[in-house]
Amino acid sequence: IIEIKNLQKKFGDHEVLRDINLDVHRGEVVSIIGRSGSGKSTLLRSINLLETPTSGEIDFNGSNILARDFDLQHYRAKVGMVFQSFNLFNNLTVLDNIVVPQQTVLKRDTATAKQHATEILEQMGMAPFVNAKPAQLSGGQKQRVAIARAVAMDPDVLLFDEPTSALDPEMVDDVLAAMSALAHTGLTMIIVTHEMAFARDISDRVVFMDQGVIAEDGSPEQIFNHPQEARTQEFLKRYL
Ligand code: ATP
Ligand code: MG
Repeated sequence: IIEIKNLQKKFGDHEVLRDINLDVHRGEVVSIIGRSGSGKSTLLRSINLLETPTSGEIDFNGSNILARDFDLQHYRAKVGMVFQSFNLFNNLTVLDNIVVPQQTVLKRDTATAKQHATEILEQMGMAPFVNAKPAQLSGGQKQRVAIARAVAMDPDVLLFDEPTSALDPEMVDDVLAAMSALAHTGLTMIIVTHEMAFARDISDRVVFMDQGVIAEDGSPEQIFNHPQEARTQEFLKRYL
């Protein structure tokens, strides 16, 4: 569904992504791990076009998203992102946080949007909070609302950038459980995370990034139990 070819991103003279090649298939769950500063967020932000790559190609269903005539509006609706910092509308209720984007972006009527939002909030264990405002929720609850909002847009691909790293430890598991449930629905997910046990359990494939390159790309079994590269081994040592 996404094919990244020779992707490069520079900030000034600083080459943050170097010759990235990555294919993500429909329905696949891919986790991206690596040290701080290795380029994980920049890669996700490039896929989402929050950053403009310096060179290379990103194909979505076979079309280069960087081409001039590419339908960006359609692409943005099909590729969702969940951030570390929730980014909810604080003046809206939980329900409206999920209803309003469906109305504005997808032009859904209110009844359909509400129905859809209610179902997804239920799946996320957030049904009791539909009328709450974000300020009344814990971090874990806010993040589940943010995930519900992204899911309500019926994305083809959902990107997650460290969705649990701003949370208190006791809230992490609820959010990871919600993400596992989503993964089992067959949604294509690309997840940047420092939760190694979660990455091992949920992923079809794990990508280890180091200094702007993909240093190793393999099954969870390979990456966590039989890493081929010395730098993968070195990185994983700190999680033992
Ligand atoms: P972390 O685990 O800390 O989130 P990361 O792997 O997500 O790290 P990135 O945020 O992608 O790393 O950053 C990779 C490199 O790019 C870093 O050296 C960072 O300082 C640099 N960088 C990121 N964004 C910008 C920017 N807008 N302008 C200049 N440099 C940037
Ligand atoms: Mg990051």
